[in-house]
Amino acid sequence: MRFDVITLFPELFEPFLRCGINRRAFESRQVDVRLWNPRDHAEGNYRRVDDRPFGGGPGMVMMAEPLWRCLQAIRADRAEPDDSRAPVVLFSPIGDRLDHGVVQRWADDSRGAVLVCGRYEGIDQRFIDACVDRQVSLGDFVLSGGEIAALALLDAVARLMPGVLGDEGSHQQDSFNPALDGLLDSPHFTRPEVWQGPRGPMAVPEVLLGGHHEKIGRYRREQSLTLTARLRPELLDHAQGADRLDKADLDFLRRQKLL
Ligand code: SAH
Repeated sequence: MRFDVITLFPELFEPFLRCGINRRAFESRQVDVRLWNPRDHAEGNYRRVDDRPFGGGPGMVMMAEPLWRCLQAIRADRAEPDDSRAPVVLFSPIGDRLDHGVVQRWADDSRGAVLVCGRYEGIDQRFIDACVDRQVSLGDFVLSGGEIAALALLDAVARLMPGVLGDEGSHQQDSFNPALDGLLDSPHFTRPEVWQGPRGPMAVPEVLLGGHHEKIGRYRREQSLTLTARLRPELLDHAQGADRLDKADLDFLRRQKLL
């Protein structure tokens, strides 16, 4: 799957693509990330990519033409037929919020996408109207550029690729994953068994030390149910509505007065 990223700061991506568990996905080109700088497609000695806003006001706006030329270069390089062109995605605070469902759809879409990272006050609306298929937001706050949002999407997609996480399928234990019925993950513990922290000695829950897989599975499920009921009740409602909770789950939630 190929992602072409249009960014004024390609150097922000390079260290990220070389680090951590996802490196395998990027190095093997299972998630093939190509970086394009609109400055390379700008005209004149100054290779200008931004200008002052019409109508006045603070800041600068990214010009449509260098972005359009950059997109044309990407399309020529991808050489896709017109009717199966990869979508053009702009990161923007006014876009649809990124969540697990959206990330999973990207992971399943072999076309990948062209990802456009804005900077300054944003980009000329005419480029958006003419070329952008959808807008995606990281949340209701404003970043100074789309790069962190693009990295968030690439990271989350790479994690879902088969074989990327060392322990095959371990993302299926993650929060929001359908394999976990869309619930939140349970808490994790590692050595030592008793940690001498600022609040005195803290022990690992006994059941995790016993090696009894069925009991451990039940304990983790109950932790997931409890956390989801307390922190994200709408996810629990969704799991219940989709018939993903079994009798043991429902009995537990009722006993705990969480349902
Ligand atoms: N003036 C714009 C913000 C521009 S911020 C507004 O108020 O809506 C500059 C760039 O950062 C944007 O073009 C966008 O690409 C990126 N950006 C900012 N906040 C973002 C968010 N919450 N999600 C995704 N991208 C964001």
